[in-house]
Amino acid sequence: MARAATVELAPSVWRIPLLGDFVNGFILRDDDGQVTLVDMGVKQSGPKVLAALASIGSGPSDVTRLLLTHAHPDHAGGAAHVAKATGRDFGVHEADAPYAEAGASPPRDQSFRLARIMTRLMGSNAFPAVMVGERLIDGQVLDVAGGLEVVHTPGHSPGHVAYLHRDSGVLITGDSIFNVRGVRWPIKSFCTDFRLTQKTAHRLAELDYTTAAFTHGPHIADQPREAIRRFLATQKV
Ligand SMILES: [Zn+2]
Repeated sequence: MARAATVELAPSVWRIPLLGDFVNGFILRDDDGQVTLVDMGVKQSGPKVLAALASIGSGPSDVTRLLLTHAHPDHAGGAAHVAKATGRDFGVHEADAPYAEAGASPPRDQSFRLARIMTRLMGSNAFPAVMVGERLIDGQVLDVAGGLEVVHTPGHSPGHVAYLHRDSGVLITGDSIFNVRGVRWPIKSFCTDFRLTQKTAHRLAELDYTTAAFTHGPHIADQPREAIRRFLATQKV
């Protein structure tokens, strides 16, 4: 079995480092034991997600909800494996749902030369198709461990979302902003619309949270909103 590692972010909220800290998934557990998983890493990450679940004393049958921040292969890659093990389908924002179901990433920002080259060489960056149950919308509060708010932050992909868990103060940022060797933008050429990514990232500076749980990079538990605001201020966007 894959090595099970989890990092506790708050009581009943864990980060799963799926490729070291570089790619993360997340676990939220209700008082009654129901489990929600957010993001499943790359194709090979599925067993690691399940091992992380076991490491906190839960199992596939405890999982009642599966969520994605967006339909990219380093988030949705392991999704089909986890869906099969748990018998659940996925909640995905309505604008990314067709891509998740097709197992194909949304288009890359063609205003960047690298994106044009990658599209020509690699096509649509496929992953195993994902069964989508619920199509999420902005502002929706999911019945997860006291409430999990869907924050639509399009740009990186059309249906990219962050998830805010008010009870614990954990914000799952998604790919709007990375924390890889410092707070930074995601890779431009992987975004559908990089300018829009920059614009909607400001929503993360306005929310109320005490831990920024990045999908790429370690979390920040010490004044995370200030760190994000400082970064955005230097970017003048
Ligand atoms: Zn992405």
